[in-house]
Amino acid sequence: WMLPLGLFIGLFIVALVTFLSHKRLSPLAELGVAVRRKEFLVHYQPTIDLRTGRCVGAEALVRWRRPDGALVRPDLFIPLAEDSGLIQPITDQVVDIVLREMGAALRADQALHIAINLAADDVCSGRALAVITRTVGRHGVNASQIWLEVTERGFVDADAARATLARSRELGHTTAIDDFGTGYSSLQYLQGLPVDALKIDKSFVATIGIDAVSGPVIAHIIDMARSLQLSIVAEGVETQAQADYLRAREVDFAQGWLYSKALPADEFLRFYRSMQGSTDTDRSG
Ligand code: C2E
Ligand code: MG
Ligand code: MG
Ligand code: MG
Repeated sequence: WMLPLGLFIGLFIVALVTFLSHKRLSPLAELGVAVRRKEFLVHYQPTIDLRTGRCVGAEALVRWRRPDGALVRPDLFIPLAEDSGLIQPITDQVVDIVLREMGAALRADQALHIAINLAADDVCSGRALAVITRTVGRHGVNASQIWLEVTERGFVDADAARATLARSRELGHTTAIDDFGTGYSSLQYLQGLPVDALKIDKSFVATIGIDAVSGPVIAHIIDMARSLQLSIVAEGVETQAQADYLRAREVDFAQGWLYSKALPADEFLRFYRSMQGSTDTDRSG
């Protein structure tokens, strides 16, 4: 009876190997493997101070390097991760990578900041903030140099979100509401939130000087942020005309392909340092 059993096991292994080598894993299972194998990396998109034209930091944007070498954009896997509970270990890995890659630069230059995106789960549970506090502390970096970005989706559990944001402020982080204008937050709701900045979604920036109907919406968002005494970051700035409009309205910071796309850590630091001596406000990419 040993022979049939051996045959059975042999056939089973062959079937399993065939199954795996044909990549018949579901996208979710594949993402699970990616988390275990730590296949994520982080690129850094420069943030420009519109008043001085200088780079003041960057936003950490995660990418997934698949075994076949393809670089997958976060829009294609973050939503899946958020729905499946895989977002927590991904956030942990991003925090770890950011501090490993940027820890020394952050310690050496207290004017430099890096922004980390938090998912709704991260905001509501408060767990990610504990991980950030521990990791930032271990690397001897000031919490004030780590900015956090949360979207309005993070406010589904309003009380939990409020608690995390309040704690984050106590710790010294600057917190921004990301993709602002695409959610449903009322002025009244925003007024009570312990946040420091609004990031205007790139869909509004794209309307500057082009779309007469939604164009004025961006002016309204800017006014609203002002009245709430929030800093303003404009994302997706692609043209000099957009930058001029934003600077004329005293928007504080900008990001976009006009300045730079997201870069690997070493390239970002070169970009950052190359701008430190300069006062050129008309830098275009
Ligand atoms: P986001 O936080 O709103 O990031 C801005 C996105 O706009 C980035 O896409 C960036 O590469 C892109 N972008 C920058 N400049 C321009 C521009 O001038 N024009 C245009 N058209 N696009 C520009 P990316 O890197 O694909 O990230 C997409 C989204 O994935 C992010 O949107 C963010 O919501 C999410 N994400 C990225 N990294 C993380 C992360 O570590 N954790 C979580 N939870 N979400 C992340
Ligand atoms: Mg963001
Ligand atoms: Mg954004
Ligand atoms: Mg956006």
